[in-house]
Amino acid sequence: MVYKVGITGGIGSGKTAATDYLANTKQIVIVDADVIARQVVEPGTSTLLAIVDHFGEQVLLENGTLNRQYLRQLIFNSPAEKKWLESLLHPLIRQQIIAELKQATSAYAVLVSPLLFETDQHLLVDRTLLIDVPESVQIDRACQRDNMTKEQAQRILATQMSQEEKQQRADDIINNQGSLQQLYAQLDQLHQQYLGFAHHD
Ligand code: ATP
Repeated sequence: MVYKVGITGGIGSGKTAATDYLANTKQIVIVDADVIARQVVEPGTSTLLAIVDHFGEQVLLENGTLNRQYLRQLIFNSPAEKKWLESLLHPLIRQQIIAELKQATSAYAVLVSPLLFETDQHLLVDRTLLIDVPESVQIDRACQRDNMTKEQAQRILATQMSQEEKQQRADDIINNQGSLQQLYAQLDQLHQQYLGFAHHD
């Protein structure tokens, strides 16, 4: 297996901006936990059937896909249901992450996950990188991008691990308060470092 770097950061921190840059300019393979989380519950999967069986038909949209907003609301109000759903999904997501990382053939591979530390996915990688911005910037950027209200963004933030704890756990930290150019410059430096680690691994 190639050398693996896990990238994390809260909502709107710049994970996608960072991984798009590494994919497009350095040809690094990106395994995206969010994409996989959506794939495992696509229509036709036994996982989606299990969810409908458990929560009822109202968990589906008219087109047969999962009503994520409804589901999010449901588990937000019930720790037991949250636990049920996570114990179904997390092992499947983990399996798929491992399979995709195994197939990666770039100089090193990246796993990008908003819940890298929360779900122990950091154990699947050799090194971790936190994309770090103050909460106020996270909220502004997430609202601008998704048309979210400040309250919605704050609620999501409140469910994520604190910035301080992530800072303590991460091997590397990029401060993404500045411009995209400044983000890219920091990534250029880390990329060189990761090539070195991959080479000696
Ligand atoms: P999520 O977990 O919510 O999907 P994310 O961590 O992937 O978020 P991005 O989508 O990369 O975050 O960034 C959030 C928004 O902020 C995007 O619209 C992105 O273009 C913008 N953005 C990211 N970094 C910067 C920056 N340094 N300067 C200006 N805008 C930025």
